[in-house]
Amino acid sequence: MPRLLLLAALALAACSHAPAPLGDTPDGDRQPTAGVLPAPPDAALAAIDTVEMRAHIAELASDAYEGRGTGTAGEQMTVDYVIARMQEAGLVGGMPDGSFTQPVPLRSVRTTRAKDLRFVPDSGDPIALTYGPDLIGTPDGALAELDLSGAEMVFVGYGITNPGYDWDDYADVDVRGKVLVSFVNDPPATASEPTLFQADTLTYNGRWTYKYEEARRRGALAMLLIHTEETAGYPFSVLNGDAYGEHYTGVEPPEGALALAGWMSESSARQLAAASGMSLEDWFRMAGSRSFEPVPLPVTFSASMAFEHTAGVTGTNVVGKLAGQTDEAVIYTAHHDHLGIDPEKEARGEDGIYNGAIDNASGVAMLLEIAQAFTQAGTAPQRTVYFATLSAEESGLLGSALLAANPPVPLRDMVANINVDSGNLYGETDDIVGIGAERSEMFGLLEEAAAAEGLAVTMDPAPNQGLFFRSDQLAFARGGVPAVFVNTGERFRGKPADYAAQVRADYRGTRYHQPADELTDDLVFGGILQQTRVAFRLGYGLAMSDLRPQWRASEAFAETRRQSEASR
Ligand SMILES: [Zn+2]
Repeated sequence: MPRLLLLAALALAACSHAPAPLGDTPDGDRQPTAGVLPAPPDAALAAIDTVEMRAHIAELASDAYEGRGTGTAGEQMTVDYVIARMQEAGLVGGMPDGSFTQPVPLRSVRTTRAKDLRFVPDSGDPIALTYGPDLIGTPDGALAELDLSGAEMVFVGYGITNPGYDWDDYADVDVRGKVLVSFVNDPPATASEPTLFQADTLTYNGRWTYKYEEARRRGALAMLLIHTEETAGYPFSVLNGDAYGEHYTGVEPPEGALALAGWMSESSARQLAAASGMSLEDWFRMAGSRSFEPVPLPVTFSASMAFEHTAGVTGTNVVGKLAGQTDEAVIYTAHHDHLGIDPEKEARGEDGIYNGAIDNASGVAMLLEIAQAFTQAGTAPQRTVYFATLSAEESGLLGSALLAANPPVPLRDMVANINVDSGNLYGETDDIVGIGAERSEMFGLLEEAAAAEGLAVTMDPAPNQGLFFRSDQLAFARGGVPAVFVNTGERFRGKPADYAAQVRADYRGTRYHQPADELTDDLVFGGILQQTRVAFRLGYGLAMSDLRPQWRASEAFAETRRQSEASR
């Protein structure tokens, strides 16, 4: 039976007979669990306190912390504050050597020379490309120069391999040493498969970072992603504007690092397709089919480029732990870094300190209160609970990437990651949003935890924006750990139906990534209290049980989890 039919049959069976183990079928209905999540004692819940939360935010978002920029004195003050609070709560250092800290060294890479960029057809005139407007890119690794001539190019459609959808754009074709050309996003759903790649929800297979990951796994030399304004949601000029800019990255190059990980403009892609005897529309049509196979192009790529690599600052992750009785673990995360100080604003006499009260002093406050609740529960948890505040989130999720690559326990033993980023300081809600919960059996568990607080769980209101891939839970998900980002609800108590949209617009317009993200008197703590209690109930229940939530079979992370659990 084809894989998809099998999944459909399983989903049907689950609906009509017995629920799946945690109430969530692989690709079908989502059901709340009932009575599977052990509830915390009242004394533990009572330890979650809005006065303390407000005090944590007031401290961390004060000007003294200078916007908590990665690698700054302000970050060091943040690290000291978090460790002191963790110790007061009764946590011990979570790293294998017993320490609370994990250094996060960064480097930056910058393109310094890019000339003689060409697509060279087997017959016909070469197509000269201008670095910036036509094509941009940097290496994944520490490459200083790239001189290519006659490099073979292969069009790989959407660049996706996902057995859960019986989809393989690589079709076992050897692309080692080749320059790959790929679309971003997911293949579109079809009339016969309306939930293919989760329809309008952006799956991880659609995210551009995934395309590079798959290219590395395949041993490709380079990958050039096709940018269109429609598929990216922003014009190529945004990328072009940053063509010679610094890009922060971890010091350890990824395995199979690409010599060039880049983007080409739509007009460049159209010229490339035409030089290959096709059109971009032909490519879209071909790539949207399950029977797609990689297309070697009758065109080669030439380039002469140089790159400057600079050792950057070193940030610090903080990891505390509450020891349990087994090797298994639950990990809470919240990034503690923000954007630091803008000296140009300060020089002009403006407020240049990015205090980051909501983003993400609020999340750190939630995590500290949850840690305290755990230690007030009276009994040690069955599973070990880690509490990590992360560095360098704003530089590209680099602190969480480093922690997931060098975790205190193997990721196969991590049962779940619960991430909080930018708590709800806008008021009480009747619901909660669990970004990414529906990707795994975490959804039903979150529903049970929320129901205990009288709250419903609302689906991600913007599933096409891929919020799940834009905060620290991504690093754990990529390592196979089921994860959820506990986010603000959509139904504010006593407010009109569009109030959540108003709140979002206000936050985006007046606070988000601006010096005005400060702890002002109009911010209120009823909503963040609800969120924190739900996040605590979810993690507590997982820490006190044998539950092992699983990814839905079609999730890009499911296969990674299957392999890592097989190695337990
Ligand atoms: Zn954030």
